[in-house]
Amino acid sequence: MKKTLLYFTFLISSISWSQQIPFVRCATTNAIDYQESITPGYKSLVEQAFNNAKALQVNPESKSSSLYTIPVVVHVVYNIAEENIPDSVILDQIRVLNEDYNRLNPDTVNMRSDFDIVKGNPRIHFKLAEIDPNGNPTTGITRTATATTSFGSLAFLGGDMTDLEKVKSTADGGIDPWDQSRYLNIWVCDMSIFGVTALLGYATPPAGLPNWPPGSSGTLGDGVVIQYQAFGSNNPNQIGQGIVVKGRTPSHEVGHYLGLRHIWGDGDCTAEDGIDDTPNADAQSNTDCDPSKNTCTDNIQGVDLPDMIENYMDYSSEDCQNSFTAQQVSLMHGVLELQRYDLVHGNPALVTEQTISLSVYPNPASQILKIQTTEKLKSIRVYDIRGNAFSPPVDDLNLNVHELSAGVYFLQIETESGGIATTRFIKE
Ligand SMILES: [Zn+2]
Repeated sequence: MKKTLLYFTFLISSISWSQQIPFVRCATTNAIDYQESITPGYKSLVEQAFNNAKALQVNPESKSSSLYTIPVVVHVVYNIAEENIPDSVILDQIRVLNEDYNRLNPDTVNMRSDFDIVKGNPRIHFKLAEIDPNGNPTTGITRTATATTSFGSLAFLGGDMTDLEKVKSTADGGIDPWDQSRYLNIWVCDMSIFGVTALLGYATPPAGLPNWPPGSSGTLGDGVVIQYQAFGSNNPNQIGQGIVVKGRTPSHEVGHYLGLRHIWGDGDCTAEDGIDDTPNADAQSNTDCDPSKNTCTDNIQGVDLPDMIENYMDYSSEDCQNSFTAQQVSLMHGVLELQRYDLVHGNPALVTEQTISLSVYPNPASQILKIQTTEKLKSIRVYDIRGNAFSPPVDDLNLNVHELSAGVYFLQIETESGGIATTRFIKE
């Protein structure tokens, strides 16, 4: 959807106590101000990543393995027992994220063929952290009993996130984040208002992305917050209100965390999500799965596509969400190479990333890239930042990169014992 405007996602007018508390699917854009245009002057690297997104071609080989692994810490903050969700629900949520972010979710078969021309596979793996910020082994799960009965409040309906943000502070009844450059922090708590589920989740996009208005992350603590009933596909706690829970609220919020916006651009047909291959759509208010919707005219590779209710970044029911687009994928990859680089490169939060020795030199390289590893190798793969695979000639551990275009690449090795390690190199 190529759009130019956005606005406050859910301006709620005149709430009175005789009315039902409004239900908000996602409050990510609640923290941002109305902004008519994108401010120029962002770092050229960011713009380059964005341009890469627009140039992406889907690579059929890209299902083979994940390109990135993100360490996750799940902070369960509970006041009553049912909010203290069991490990089985957390593990199931990680499974859902890994399916959705590797296009391995079985319901991709439900994606209408209209979207074959735009579908994409992020190839991002999520793993509960194995090492905590102090260097000690961890399950990647923290549990905090709190006296706070709910972090929700009427104030957030007007855009004031202060009460919600308390879950991110030990001093305020929540728990402090782990190093946000090294861990994806996900807080799971109750955000209901007077016992009514009012919000499923919100997240912080990285600062400085050209498809978001300046100051989008504002002063919010970096990470994702999820209503406790909306976590996992096997959660014993139901939301009710006709809300289907299949673990897609975290898939949606992590999309924001990696830079994606709602595909309707938080506005009408003139609003912009900054992604060219997401079909244009009008403001979304309901959570249905209506395949007949085509609220705005667009032209994507010559086609006016219907509203993409299959997209994780839509407000459609979790029943019909099953896909990202190729350019959404490329933008997320750009974010992982720039704003969230330390999250996925050389991260000490994961043991398994450390056990395989792999380095390359010289780097940058123009002719021969020498691979240094003590492992016995089964295969060597080379990808560019967009996920395109290359097969440069390799002689023993000498990779001939002469024919590659200048740019950033990933070298991934698979060892005979089944381990995978990835490093980054630059062809000059
Ligand atoms: Zn959202």
